[in-house]
Amino acid sequence: MGQVKVNDISKFYGEQKALNNVNLQVDKGEVVGLLGPNGAGKSTLMKILTSFLTPTSGTASINGFDVQEDVLKIKQLIGYLPEHNPLYHDMYVKEYLRFVLKMYKFAKPAGQVIDETILLTGLEKEQHKKIGALSKGYRQRVGLAQALIHDPEILILDEPTSGLDPNQIVDIRKIITDLGKEKTVILSTHIMQEVEAICDRVIIIDQGKIVADDSTRNLSGLSLNNLQFRVEFKEDVPEKLIRNMQYVSKIEKLSGNTWLIETEGKKDIRENIFKFAVANNYNVLSLSQSELKMEDVFRRLTKQ
Ligand code: ADP
Ligand code: MG
Repeated sequence: MGQVKVNDISKFYGEQKALNNVNLQVDKGEVVGLLGPNGAGKSTLMKILTSFLTPTSGTASINGFDVQEDVLKIKQLIGYLPEHNPLYHDMYVKEYLRFVLKMYKFAKPAGQVIDETILLTGLEKEQHKKIGALSKGYRQRVGLAQALIHDPEILILDEPTSGLDPNQIVDIRKIITDLGKEKTVILSTHIMQEVEAICDRVIIIDQGKIVADDSTRNLSGLSLNNLQFRVEFKEDVPEKLIRNMQYVSKIEKLSGNTWLIETEGKKDIRENIFKFAVANNYNVLSLSQSELKMEDVFRRLTKQ
């Protein structure tokens, strides 16, 4: 039994289909990245999981509670950081957290819960400021704080690092990684490296459909059997000649006389490329080798 279950969810906004028969299951303790380009349907799916939006068809549940029927239970089980992190800029950090906490029933004294949350999100130094006076990175920490103040089992974070500078991104990723040790986390992103940095598992979504669902290791590894070579010839070499070289599994013209050549079984064909050039009276201007990255896998899976 999965902790988060999505059964055949579709969502239309009028004529616009945002989700197309989505099925997935996330188990307790997993840290899952929902990876997809803008407009893929990530936010829509997250809004459905957090009871903010009704699906056109299908069902979803958290710990067995239906997201449409058991709304109060869902709000307790889930901490949600919405996209663009809407906050009250005129409120003070602590005042805001106290305000959020009022929505939940809690055994511990409010002051203690707020202090613990502030510590967890690294807000100690900024806790007496107005939210509007904080940098974007610290505002995002406040967003995380409001999401986890009621100690939910599951965190749903919609593009938690979007719009932050590189240092802030590192800080927020670190907090999420730490939270992931205790909680189930589903985060959305359009950045491959983010998934590689934080998540055990990646679900790739494109145009409302899930196109891949696997461990991060497997998906970046899917490609580890392949090597890529980027070669620029001086001349316009016929495609067929390149394609017919030994071990070549795939080629793509990048621009002008520059080609991307892929081999299977990690075959290093750099020498072959030079020999090929010499034998056919072509000149190699540059040649480099790279492993396929998650980015390439993503591009391949979501290409029409
Ligand atoms: P993502 O979060 O992956 O960028 P969204 O879930 O926001 O994707 O959007 C999925 C699709 O649904 C997009 O084509 C988007 O334009 C459309 N969409 C999202 N919200 C609305 C809305 N309120 N009304 C109409 N179309 C919407
Ligand atoms: Mg979105």
